[in-house]
Amino acid sequence: MTVEQFVNRHLGPDTAAHARMLEAVGYGSVEELMDAAIPEVIRWHGTLDLPEPATEQEALAQLRALADRNTVAVSMIGLGYHGTHTPPVIRRNVLENPAWYTAYTPYQPEISQGRLEALLNFQTMVADLTALPLANASMLDEATAAAEAMTLARRASRNGSAVYVVDADALPQTVAVLRARAEPLGIEVRVLDLVTTDLPAELFGLHLQYPGASGAVRDHRELVEAAHERGALVTVAADLLALTLLRPPGEIGADIAAGTTQRFGVPMGYGGPHAGYLAVRAGLERMLPGRLVGVSRDAAGERAYRLALQTREQHIRREKATSNICTAQVLLAVMAGMYAVYHGPDGLRRIAERVHAMADRLAGGLRAGGVETGAEPFFDTVTAVVPQRAAAVVAAAAERGVNLRLVDADRVGIACDETTTEEHLRAVWAAFGVDAPTGEPQSPAPAGPARSTAYLTHPVFHAHRSETAMLRYLRRLADFDYALDRGMIPLGSCTMKLNATAEMEPISWPGFADLHPFAPAAQTTGYRELISSLEEWLAEVTGYDAVSVQPNAGSQGELAGLLAIRAYHRDRGEAHRTVCLIPSSAHGTNAASAVMAGMRVVVVACDADGNVDLVDLDAKIAKHRDELAAIMVTYPSTHGVYESGIATCCAKVHDAGGQVYVDGANLNALLGFAKPGQFGADVSHLNLHKTFCIPHGGGGPGVGPVAVRAHLAPYLPGDPLDADGAPAVSAARYGSAGILPIAWAYLRMMGAEGLTRATGTAVLAANYVAARLRAHYPVLYSGSKGLVAHECILDLRALTKATGVTVDDVAKRLIDHGFHAPTMSFPVAGTLMVEPTESEDLAELDRFCDAMIAIRREIDEVGTGTWPAGDNPLRNAPHTAAMVSADEWPHPYPRSVGAYPAGVERAGKYWPPVRRVDGAYGDRNLVCACPSPEAFEE
Ligand SMILES: *Cc1c(COP(=O)(O)O)cnc(C)c1O
Repeated sequence: MTVEQFVNRHLGPDTAAHARMLEAVGYGSVEELMDAAIPEVIRWHGTLDLPEPATEQEALAQLRALADRNTVAVSMIGLGYHGTHTPPVIRRNVLENPAWYTAYTPYQPEISQGRLEALLNFQTMVADLTALPLANASMLDEATAAAEAMTLARRASRNGSAVYVVDADALPQTVAVLRARAEPLGIEVRVLDLVTTDLPAELFGLHLQYPGASGAVRDHRELVEAAHERGALVTVAADLLALTLLRPPGEIGADIAAGTTQRFGVPMGYGGPHAGYLAVRAGLERMLPGRLVGVSRDAAGERAYRLALQTREQHIRREKATSNICTAQVLLAVMAGMYAVYHGPDGLRRIAERVHAMADRLAGGLRAGGVETGAEPFFDTVTAVVPQRAAAVVAAAAERGVNLRLVDADRVGIACDETTTEEHLRAVWAAFGVDAPTGEPQSPAPAGPARSTAYLTHPVFHAHRSETAMLRYLRRLADFDYALDRGMIPLGSCTMKLNATAEMEPISWPGFADLHPFAPAAQTTGYRELISSLEEWLAEVTGYDAVSVQPNAGSQGELAGLLAIRAYHRDRGEAHRTVCLIPSSAHGTNAASAVMAGMRVVVVACDADGNVDLVDLDAKIAKHRDELAAIMVTYPSTHGVYESGIATCCAKVHDAGGQVYVDGANLNALLGFAKPGQFGADVSHLNLHKTFCIPHGGGGPGVGPVAVRAHLAPYLPGDPLDADGAPAVSAARYGSAGILPIAWAYLRMMGAEGLTRATGTAVLAANYVAARLRAHYPVLYSGSKGLVAHECILDLRALTKATGVTVDDVAKRLIDHGFHAPTMSFPVAGTLMVEPTESEDLAELDRFCDAMIAIRREIDEVGTGTWPAGDNPLRNAPHTAAMVSADEWPHPYPRSVGAYPAGVERAGKYWPPVRRVDGAYGDRNLVCACPSPEAFEE
C-alpha cells in the first residue's frame, strides 16, 4: 500500500473533478490546457530539480532534525530581541488558530470586525505606552519602522535640510537599515555621539533611542528641544516594556515613536516575524504610512471598525505613496495587543519591574565583584567593562548556556527579560569570574526619568484577565470574522490557498521559535541549512542564480531588487540610469518601491487586450533610452493573462541597457511551466505568503525573497551587522526566518510533480470559473486562445451603468452567501478579480459560481425595476441577524431573501456582526484608538 501523497491533500479537485472541469473548459487534459494557455516563447519543458516529495510525516521528521541542530541557549544579547513568555492561551488560540492566521487583510470590514478590534487594541496599546495620540497597525520590524519615521520626518520638516542625525547609541541594525534607505533618497545619515557632540546647525530629523543599545537611559529633553529649534522632527525608538516605567516619548516632545513589540509575547524566531510599531503626534496623522484602523459606523448607525484613510495606500497613490508597505505584521500585532490585554497595565508593569530588578541585581553582583558597569541609569541592559577580556567572558557564558553580546574587545552587553531567572544570573556572574551576591533581590528605584502618567486605562485591558475570559474574548472576536477556515477567499493577486497544518506546526517548536537573530553561528546550523536549501529550491523553480530571503514582504523584495539594479548600474559607471518603466496595470507597491530606490517612474500604457502596449513601450524607451534603469512588469500580468509579448518586452529593455524586474507575485501561474530567470528577467521578488503557503495572517506576516541572475548576486541584501556588506532591507539577516519552515515544508512535500500539478490545477480552476461565469459577467481579458491564467477579471462596468449596482454591492452580497469578495477594482476600476487557487475543491468552486449567478439574477431584478435601485438585497447587503430579525421590516423583498439568498444553507450560515460600514464617515471623524465605553451608548 502506498501512503497518501501530500499533493492530493493540497489540491482541492480530485481526478473526477478535474475531468468535469476540463470538459467545461473544453480541453482533454491539463497538459493540453497549459500548452494552449502558456505562450511557447516562455514555456519551459524540463522537470524541476527538487528532492522526491516527502510525506507529511517525513517532512515533519526532517524539520524536527533541523530544529534539533539549532541550539536554544538562554539569550541575553538584547539589541531589540528578547526572551518572552507567549501566554499559552494566545499561542494556541491566535498563532496556532486558523481563524486568525488564515484571514485576509481587513479590506472588507464587515467580515473583519474581530481582527479590526484586535488591531485597534494594538494601536491603543502603542499610543498609550508612547504617549502619542496615533499609532498604526503595523510595521515590518523596528529598523524599517525607524526608516519610515525618517522619511516621514523629511516630508513633514520644512527646513530643506538633507541631514538626519542618529544617536550613536541606536541599535546597530537600525543604523544599517537607515543608511540603506537614506542613500537612494539623497538623505545624509550622520551618526553622532550626542553625549559628547552637539547637534549640527542643520538637520531635518533626529533619531534617539532609549534604552540605547548600551542599555543607557538618558534624559533627551534638551536634545528634543534643540532639534525643534532647528525645525527638525524627532523620532524616539523606545522599548514599550520600558515605557511602563519610564517617561514616554510623547511627554518629552517627540514627534514620532518607533520600535518593535516583539517582547510582548512574540517569539524571537531568529529575527522575525514580529510587529514593528510607529506612532505620531497630532498633526502628522495624514502622513503616517501603513495601515490604520479607525472607528466608523454601519448602515444602521452602529459602531463599526474599518481601515481608515485608505486613499493613502500605495494602491491608489502609487509613486506618490508615503511608503511601499503593503503586507505588514498583523498576526503578530494581534498577539502583542492580546499580551497587553491579558496582562493589563499592572501586569505589564510588574513584568517590567521584575526585568529591571534582575538587571539591577546583575549589575550589583558584577560591581561587588569589581566589574565596572557604567554610571548611567539602565532598564534591562547592562554594559560591563572588562578590558581585553570581553571575548573570554562571552565564551565562558556560552559554555554555561547563556548568550551575551560581545560589544568590542573590552565590553560585554547583558540584557535581562521576562524569562530571566536567578540561575541565569548565576551563570553570568560565573562567566565574569565573580561570586554571586548574597542577600535577597531588592526592588530598585526606577531607571532614569520615571513615568507618572497612566496607560491602558481602557476597559479592554482590564476585562480579560482570567484565562477563561481571555479564551472567550479570542473566540468571540474570531467568530466575527471570515477566514479560509470558513470558505473560499477568491482574491485575485493574493493567492489565498491552503496553509497546511503540517506546514504550520514547526513554527512554534522552540528549536525554531526561540533563537535570537544574532546568536552565534554554531547554534544556528539547522536554520542556516533550512534557509540554504530553501534558497536553492527557490532559485531552481524560478530559474535564477541566487536568492535572498531577507525581505520580509513583497514590497521589501521589490525594494531590494531595485536597489540591486541601482547598484549594478552605478558600479558600471551608469549612475544616470534612474528611469523605471512601469505598466499602468502594475500593483501600487511597484511604483512606490521605485521611488524609494531613487528612481523616476514612467508609466507604460496597456493596449485594449490588457497587454503591455509594445508601441508605447518603444516610444518610452526611445524617449528615456540613456536614463533607462529598468522595467518592472508582473508576469502573468495583473490582468490575469499570459502575455506573449513578454520576451520581446524584455529584449527591448535589455537592448536599451535597462534591467528587467519581473514582479513574481503571480508565480502560482508559472511554477513548473516557465521560469522568469530564463525568459528574460534579471530579478524578481516572490511572495512566500502567496504561492508558497505562508498564511496571510489577516495582513501579514509575509516573506518576499528577492531572486536574481548571477550579475546581480553581489548586490543582494547584506547582513545588517556587517558594516562593509551590501545594504540591508530588514533588521535581521534572514528577515522573518521563523516562518520559513512553512515554505520549506510546502516545497519538500510537493516536489517537482506536485508543484507542476498545483499550477495546472490553479489555471484550470480559474478557467473553469471564467467558463461558468462568462455568460453572466463579461471576462475582461483573455489570451489568444480565449484562456486566462490563474485568475480572471469579471467586468461589471456595463451592469453598473445600466442598473446602478456596483462592485461593492456584489462584494457585500457575497457575504450573505458566505463568501469573501474577490479583489475589487484592482487592476481595473469597476471589476472583480477572481483567483480560486488549486486548493478549492469543485463543490466550493461551484458554490461560488452559483452565488455569482444568483447575484446576477438579482442585478437583473434591479435593472427591470422589480426592486428600487436604493432598496434591494444588493444595496442593503450584508444582512445581519439583527436586521432580518428586527420587528420592523420596511424593505420591498422578504426577510428570507435578505438572510438566505438562493442556495444558502440555513444551519451553517455566517452572520456578519455589522451592516455595511460607512467609510467616509470614519475618515471625517478620525478615531484610531479604542473608543470609550460611553461611545457605545451614543
Ligand atoms: C501582493 C503583491 C505585491 C506586494 O506584496 P506584499 O507582500 O503585500 O508587500 C506586489 N505585487 C503584486 C502583483 C502583488 O499581488
